[in-house]
Amino acid sequence: MQSGWRVGSLFGIPLRIDPSWFFVVALVTLSAGAEFQANYAQEWGAQTAWGMGLATALLLFLSVLLHELGHSLVAKLQGIQVQSITLFFFGGIAAIEQEPKTPGKAFQVAIAGPAVSFSLFLIFGLIGFLTPGVDAPLRVLFTRLAGINLVLTLFNLIPGLPLDGGQVLKSIVWKATGSQIQGIRWAASSGRMLGFIAIAWGLADTFGVSSALGLPYIGGLWIALIGWFVVQNAATYSRLTDLQEALLKIKSEDAMTREFRVVDANMTLRRFADDHLLSGTRAPVYYAASNGRYRGMVDVDGLQLIERSEWETKTLSSILKSLSDVPTVQESTPIVEVIQLLDDKNLSQITVLSPAEAVAGVIDRGDIVRALGQKMNLRISDTIIKQIKEDGTYPPGLKLGTIAQSAAELRAK
Ligand SMILES: [Zn+2]
Repeated sequence: MQSGWRVGSLFGIPLRIDPSWFFVVALVTLSAGAEFQANYAQEWGAQTAWGMGLATALLLFLSVLLHELGHSLVAKLQGIQVQSITLFFFGGIAAIEQEPKTPGKAFQVAIAGPAVSFSLFLIFGLIGFLTPGVDAPLRVLFTRLAGINLVLTLFNLIPGLPLDGGQVLKSIVWKATGSQIQGIRWAASSGRMLGFIAIAWGLADTFGVSSALGLPYIGGLWIALIGWFVVQNAATYSRLTDLQEALLKIKSEDAMTREFRVVDANMTLRRFADDHLLSGTRAPVYYAASNGRYRGMVDVDGLQLIERSEWETKTLSSILKSLSDVPTVQESTPIVEVIQLLDDKNLSQITVLSPAEAVAGVIDRGDIVRALGQKMNLRISDTIIKQIKEDGTYPPGLKLGTIAQSAAELRAK
């Protein structure tokens, strides 16, 4: 999450606050303040009661921040960049640059947050226990904080993505099956199911159904909202995993087309321009061959650098780029590598070579999206593919470069 204002940094990690955070601070201040008001106003005075309400809200977020720092610092110890910690409506999010490399390391990052929260529960609980005076403001505050951190610990350990418990479940399934994708699938499904239960139960609370059924109250609309947030996130995880899994099954030969033409390397530049460039049937790429061997790729832009008067005498050989100089892949090259090559080298298409070093095909971004659509049984119209081919970019919202990179990391394990 990159939203919100940057308010500083901790251990080199930018700290951001989303506007929705202020809403929750106000809400917690009001509800805790009103409760303190009702119970302790006589002993504390109204001002202190409201002040303690605000202190509760701020310390809640300090607890959330320390929880996220727990995840972040363990990730940093593993050499993973932490992009930011953001405090928002539902708590906090630490954005880490990449997934840990092994299930063991993923487990450590996931469990670090709840471990911090549980430690805070023990520390605040102990301070509350040792603070003198039964209803003294500080003692009430510390006891309250202990409770908040226990809830944070237990809530985050619920075993469904995107919660920490889901990450823990993912690492366990990953360890057991050896497949990170399986781990994500299990944890996302579990998150989805638990999210729906939370929505149903939260709504049942709100409309008095749970009390009528004799079920405990678990938080009403608030829990329903959190359930909705979890369901949305779990769906994103599932979609991303579907995409990654499909990408990992595609090889260059599945995506390549024969949208290229082979011309005689001994052809004059004039003839090439007349017959091919000006004829209205221009191919996206030209390769030149002579004596049954590929001589290179025709550098159509290079043609402009040569004097028109020389076009009659010079042949295509003078504007060829050798196949060893242009970026090429093999028919067996995974498509995730092709996607990364196109992006890294800023290419519009790439040449696919056969084992005999002949040109087997070419791949552009449109071909990649078409192959992906076929693999996922999605109908993608020819108009869209044509548009991608013309623009040379993926449709907005389809961050194939990033997805390919994360898929390649999955494959590396
Ligand atoms: Zn966490």
